[in-house]
Amino acid sequence: MPFHRLRQQVSEYSALLHARGWVANHDGNVSVREGPGEFLCTPTAWSKRSVGTEDVLVVDRDGKVRQGRHKVFGEWHLHKAVFQARPDVNAILHAHPPTACGFAVAGRPLGRPGIAEMVVSLGADIPLIPYGAPKSDVLERAVATSAEVYDAVVLANHGVMTWGDDLEQAYLRMELVEHWARILAVAHQLGGPVMLPDADVQKLLEARTAAGLGPKARSPLLKKPG
Ligand SMILES: [Zn+2]
Repeated sequence: MPFHRLRQQVSEYSALLHARGWVANHDGNVSVREGPGEFLCTPTAWSKRSVGTEDVLVVDRDGKVRQGRHKVFGEWHLHKAVFQARPDVNAILHAHPPTACGFAVAGRPLGRPGIAEMVVSLGADIPLIPYGAPKSDVLERAVATSAEVYDAVVLANHGVMTWGDDLEQAYLRMELVEHWARILAVAHQLGGPVMLPDADVQKLLEARTAAGLGPKARSPLLKKPG
């Protein structure tokens, strides 16, 4: 994709995070891999409502600004951890969608998606990463480890990160995580979710692999039992 189009996309998906009500104040960030060791991302301390193409930064893998008038966001190290762990990932979103964040604040994992199509799209689990102070190495390592297996994670008392081949895929995953959180909240009100059996999840994960989604073979549930 041409550089100017990628820049536009960062601006567009940034605005979408705001339009969907998934960020407030300066929350959230957007990044894409532009080339080897080069990335585009949103600036720090900026409403995602109004990131213009001229505000999008070019940074290296350490978050050093190569082009742009603003500073990179403090959570860059978490994006870097995902980009390093997953060479197939080209785009990352971070946001604070309210229902998923409700679970994050309550310390309740979103866990395994309870709807078949969601397992195909998101995998066998949406892990809850224990709280880590901003900029902590522990949090960075936990995100890197999860990225090897998953495409969406919830950070306790913080927010959600999703990633994918491109911003559209990362965006749809964010949408799905929030949608699942809303469904799960209702299921809890109705007596609790009835989860899909392992054998069925196995088949869905095979369909996921066949569709070329996710880090595939690394999913623990994909290993043949026994
Ligand atoms: Zn955040």
